[in-house]
Amino acid sequence: MPEGHTVHRVAVLFRDVFVGHPVEASSPQGRFRDGAELISGQVMSDAWAVGKQLFVSWSGGMVLRVHLGIYGAWSVAGDTSESSIGAPRTRREEGFRRAAEDSFPPEPIGQVRLRLLSDAVVADLRGPTACELLTPDEASDLMATLGPDPLVGKPAKNKARFVEKFQASSTPIGVALMNQKMVSGIGNVYRAELLFRHRLDPWQPAKSLTQEQLEDLWDDWTVLLKQGVKTGVMVTRGDLTPAGRRKALRSSSWRHYVYKRTGSPCLACGTPIAMAEMATRKLYYCPQCQDATPPTGG
Ligand SMILES: [Zn+2]
Repeated sequence: MPEGHTVHRVAVLFRDVFVGHPVEASSPQGRFRDGAELISGQVMSDAWAVGKQLFVSWSGGMVLRVHLGIYGAWSVAGDTSESSIGAPRTRREEGFRRAAEDSFPPEPIGQVRLRLLSDAVVADLRGPTACELLTPDEASDLMATLGPDPLVGKPAKNKARFVEKFQASSTPIGVALMNQKMVSGIGNVYRAELLFRHRLDPWQPAKSLTQEQLEDLWDDWTVLLKQGVKTGVMVTRGDLTPAGRRKALRSSSWRHYVYKRTGSPCLACGTPIAMAEMATRKLYYCPQCQDATPPTGG
């Protein structure tokens, strides 16, 4: 599932290639035809992310909101080095990019909910959980419900909001970190890795963490997110040599301490990494380092 870094990268790309230009919008699949017609031909005014949500404002005043969900992705072609942002790249998307080199714009491939097209770049959105037009007020109201994002607004205020929200919550920390109303942009990979990096028991209540622990957690999330936006890859191991880090950027088996490493020895203590269901998603952790035992019974 795309996490916050992915959506911030889409916003950066859109600011780079679309903002300030008239953009044609269409819905080849048809499901967003009415919305696309309303904004088509307008100048894209701005694009920004809050956590996993992308917001795009238009010269006519409307705001497009896109949430990629688990399967959503943008395929991008034309005059840009990006090719795919979101769900893992597929052969189909490679084909899309090659087709664009032969004739621009290329034919849409698959179920394209929304196509954005400028003179130089095409971006096709497939499989989003949400793709809708909002008024500016509706967009503001929605953004106000989202937890702090390290890359949006004032850093000190964000950190204070994060600490305050977590100090007030008796939800297990592993659940709270995935709640987008508590903090924006953390998904299953960053959740498991942050908990391991801080040697936290995922089942301990959020409010049981000290102020210092919460501030450290926020600072670390800020660092990881910035790295993710820069590289497009979630490398969460902090024990890599420069050569190891280069390998991790290419190969997922080098990237994480615990994520998808069930049964493999913990990189810190050698205990087999464990997996449990938490809030309907798989949680990976080291029972020893994190002093963690899932609650038993129903
Ligand atoms: Zn361990």
